[in-house]
Formats: sequence, C-alpha cells, structure tokens
Amino acid sequence: MIRETHEAHGVKFYLERTPALIQDRQVQLDDGTIVDCDLVVIGIGVRPNTALAEKAGVATDNGVLVNEFLETNMPGIFAAGDIASWPDPRAGRIRVEHWVVAERQGQTAARNILGARERFTVPPFFWSNHFDVGIRYVGHGSGDDRATVSGDLKAKDASVIFRAGDKLTAVASIGRDLENLKAEVALERGEEFRVS
Ligand SMILES: Cc1cc2nc3c(=O)[nH]c(=O)nc-3n(C[C@H](O)[C@H](O)[C@H](O)COP(=O)(O)OP(=O)(O)OC[C@H]3O[C@@H](n4cnc5c(N)ncnc54)[C@H](O)[C@@H]3O)c2cc1C
Repeated sequence: MIRETHEAHGVKFYLERTPALIQDRQVQLDDGTIVDCDLVVIGIGVRPNTALAEKAGVATDNGVLVNEFLETNMPGIFAAGDIASWPDPRAGRIRVEHWVVAERQGQTAARNILGARERFTVPPFFWSNHFDVGIRYVGHGSGDDRATVSGDLKAKDASVIFRAGDKLTAVASIGRDLENLKAEVALERGEEFRVS
C-alpha cells in the first residue's frame, strides 16, 4: 500500500484515516486532524442485490457465483459485471466493481451464451482519473502485498508493482499506459514482468 500523502489541485488525501466526527463546516479524522469544509460527499459503498437471483435458485455469496465460463449453478444462466463473483486464475474468487471488467465479462458471457465455452481469464483492470492524474491498475493486489515504486510519482511518471512473495499480483501506473498494458499481458500469461 502507498502510504504517501498526495496533494494536487488543492486535493489532499488523508490515507488510512477515517472520519470520526462531522460537524458544522469541519470534519474530525480519527487521528484528531481537523479538516475545514463547506460540503461533505460520502462514498459509502454498495452491496450486490442478489434477491432476484436467490429467488430463482441461483447460488450467491457476496454476488452471484459463476464459474470460469461466467455461468451460474443453473445451466444457461450467466452473470457478468459488478454482480458476478468469479474464479480469477491468479487471485481466486473475486468480485470487482469496475467498468472494463463489466464490459469484458459481458463480451465473454455473450459469447458463451452462444455456445463458445470460453474461459474468462482476463486480469481485472480499472482506471481512475483525478484531475490530470490518470491511474491505470491491472491485477488484484491485497493490502499485504509488497509494493515497489518504479519511476517518479511526483513527476507523474511511475508504476507501483505489487507482489505477493515473488508473484506479480497487480501494477498501478501513472503516465505509463503502455507499461500497464504490458503488465496486463504478463499477468494474463503468468509471465514475469519487468519495467522498461
Ligand atoms: C459513482 C461511481 C463512479 C464510478 N467510477 C468508476 C471509474 O472511475 N472507473 C471504473 O472502472 N468504474 C467506475 N465505477 C463502476 C462502474 O460504473 C461499474 O463497475 C459498472 O457500471 C458495472 O456495470 P454492470 O453492467 O455490471 O452494472 P450496472 O452498470 O450497475 O448495470 C446494472 C443494470 O441492471 C439494472 N437492474 C438491476 N436490477 C434489475 C432488475 N431486477 N431488472 C431489470 N434491470 C435491473 C440496473 O438498473 C442497471 O441499469 C463507478 C461507479 C459509480 C457508482
């Protein structure tokens, strides 16, 4: 995990902090820091709504359970995107709430509905834009992974490589889109990844 506080365009991240108290025009963080503000926007997160699937007899557990073909326990019923919990060949069973995953799973599920019998092996991928900083992230790291920074984060030209032991789990890049795509290929093929 990156523990550095990043500040740009007047945006400041208080990493690993949570709000303890919201008051009139200020928020107190759990370490006592006071942040002055006019408006508080809260991202609380979501829970997959699996009621309809359960009623239909589809197996669920933090989402709709699917196999490597994105098919549920009911033959002919497929799930893709935010709702689907699938067995990723590298990370094990995961559920990911990101746009590209939803698109790619939708494509695989559609082909499989037509009988292609294609495994979903693409590593999870997402991007996130923060003003002029675009972060590309591929793979599925965990908080326990070792993170190595390659390049210069302040110059917005860097990759952070996450490994569990020797195993590459994820790569996050700023200003290095091509490198991130190469990491995606390496992850998908189970190959070693070296920054250029
Ligand atoms: C505020 C916000 C910001 C985000 N930012 C990013 C980002 O920067 N990058 C990124 O990669 N991802 C981002 N995401 C996530 C991304 O939007 C989702 O991963 C993606 O939309 C998932 O697609 P989906 O098709 O699986 O689900 P959805 O887009 O949620 O589509 C599901 C559809 O099913 C419909 N539906 C639900 N129940 C029923 C029912 N019973 N009958 C009929 N229709 C039903 C819903 O109305 C909805 O239209 C963001 C999401 C949010 C909310």
